Amino acid sequence: MRLASVSVDLDEIPNYFEIHGLGEPPEGARTKVYDVALDRLEGLASAARLPLTLFAIGQDLGRDAAAAGLREAGDAGHEIANHSLDHRYDLVRLGREEIRRQVAEGARVIRERTGHDPVGFRAPGYTITDEVFSVLEEEGVRYDASVFPCPAYWAAKTAAIAGIAMRGRRSRSIVDTPNVLRAPTRPYRIGRPYWRRGDGLLEIPVQVTRGPRLPFIGTSVTLAGPERARLLARMCVGEPLVNLELHGIDVLDADDGLDALRPHQPDVRVPHGRKIDAVLSACDVLRSAGYTFVTMREAAATLAEGA
Ligand SMILES: [Zn+2]
Repeated sequence: MRLASVSVDLDEIPNYFEIHGLGEPPEGARTKVYDVALDRLEGLASAARLPLTLFAIGQDLGRDAAAAGLREAGDAGHEIANHSLDHRYDLVRLGREEIRRQVAEGARVIRERTGHDPVGFRAPGYTITDEVFSVLEEEGVRYDASVFPCPAYWAAKTAAIAGIAMRGRRSRSIVDTPNVLRAPTRPYRIGRPYWRRGDGLLEIPVQVTRGPRLPFIGTSVTLAGPERARLLARMCVGEPLVNLELHGIDVLDADDGLDALRPHQPDVRVPHGRKIDAVLSACDVLRSAGYTFVTMREAAATLAEGA
């Protein structure tokens, strides 16, 4: 089996201001992901002839324009999945009933506002626990895509949050325990604890390369640029499923009203056209290597048959 999927977390701009402890974004910048990035993502998808899996945050769909854009994307064949109700970075620290509300209400709002029923879930900030997993199972979620067993990412995130604290600001982001690094890097059924194999929910981990387990995600691919993105993609060839996870902000840049993020996020300084070219290069390598692009729902159904 050689399946590939491209998923996109549609985190709106205020989330990035929260991560960096920057307060509220300027008014015109707040909704650039739904207002600008979604069109660019659909352009990318048709250029690469692939379906996207779009992880939406329920509360963003309160805005009619956002809900309409996502509904159209779903009607066009892209999968709509659940990225929680409010994108609470501290989801894992909430009480069980609030965790359940974040999962179930997120799904309900997406269903009501887009007409598309989400079956997959991704936790905010790749942080997940056994308790969140047990809620997902009770809520009938078909696959989760939150586990990121990437030593380089884990170390960088831990250092970044400490750095933000040292500069006297407070990030809303939190660090997962290093146990996540013990999880399988290929799709698996979770056990207890979730980083062991078992017969529970199907987990599709965020992609790392073979060998040094480098992150194969939007930030690393777009910062690598079109040529080195090919190298990263080649380092994933051979995996049964290659699952490239992007964010809406990966197809935006400083000129989209994000100047305030420039000092904090190097990816915002790269022109969006160059970033899109990098993603297309990575997809081209996978297609040339015999991969078929599917939604994560389709990948999950195929994996469930074999698991
Ligand atoms: Zn997110």
